[in-house]
Amino acid sequence: MRLRTAAALAALALTLTACGGGDEQGDLGSGTPDTKPTFEAGTTMARIQSAGVLKVGTKFDQPLYGEKQLSGDVEGFDVNVAKILADELGVQPEFTEAVSKNREPFIQNGTVDIVVATYTINDKRKQVIDFAGPYYVTGQSIMVKKDDSAITDKAGLAGKRVCSVEGSTPAERIKTEVPTAKLTTFDTYGKCAEALKNGQTDAVTTDEAILLGLVSKSPEDFQVVGEPFSEEPYGIGLKKGDQPFRDFLNDTLEKAYEDGRWEKALKDTVGTVQDQLPSPPPVDRYTAAG
Ligand code: GLU
Repeated sequence: MRLRTAAALAALALTLTACGGGDEQGDLGSGTPDTKPTFEAGTTMARIQSAGVLKVGTKFDQPLYGEKQLSGDVEGFDVNVAKILADELGVQPEFTEAVSKNREPFIQNGTVDIVVATYTINDKRKQVIDFAGPYYVTGQSIMVKKDDSAITDKAGLAGKRVCSVEGSTPAERIKTEVPTAKLTTFDTYGKCAEALKNGQTDAVTTDEAILLGLVSKSPEDFQVVGEPFSEEPYGIGLKKGDQPFRDFLNDTLEKAYEDGRWEKALKDTVGTVQDQLPSPPPVDRYTAAG
């Protein structure tokens, strides 16, 4: 009798240790990674699992999406999505800064396994990489100084100085939609925000989601004006042609849509400054990439 109790207690202790050990991702994970999922040998999932880390390219200066804290931790919705994916593989995520223009090269040369970085799915990028998702949709908009009443929409950018980021879709679009705007590009939006604050530019243009994040950080300095004028569906970038990995990422997104992990990932980040949160967009299982 005594022995049986001791055995039962030992078994319970083991279970508790397993649960505790698997919960390092906070409560974003499924909470039951005590048995690691198994993947077919030779797949990217199996390779990542034996490496023990999922290498993720993300942004480091975009509040609410991917922002490196003084503690060294990276936080945001994109970061939380990456944590869900790592958790599903039974590994830890490892974050590397991927500025806009580095995203395709980092995927192509294997610096990272995936990019989760406010990364718009489009045909041009699909020629060199693949995307899972979309997992979020936003649109291009404009940010100006809080006391600026001259620029109220896209048309107001005519002849004005505008800042955006190299290798981004908004930098390209503004050239054709407002050809008289004087475009300056930096490698990060944080630098554009700095330039706006210092009076070196009149406006910043990129996704509304990113701009609202920057405003949330400095509401006394900046405001977003006008209506979004593009559609930017965010995807997870991966190596072109890796269909099993793309299926895994899409399956995980759909699971996270259903079990509430996606919603929690958004609520804990964007939801801290925004009351109305969108529903997840349907995953696009396109077959003919590019
Ligand atoms: N979503 C746009 C893009 O992928 C702009 C945001 C960014 O540069 O990260 O280019």
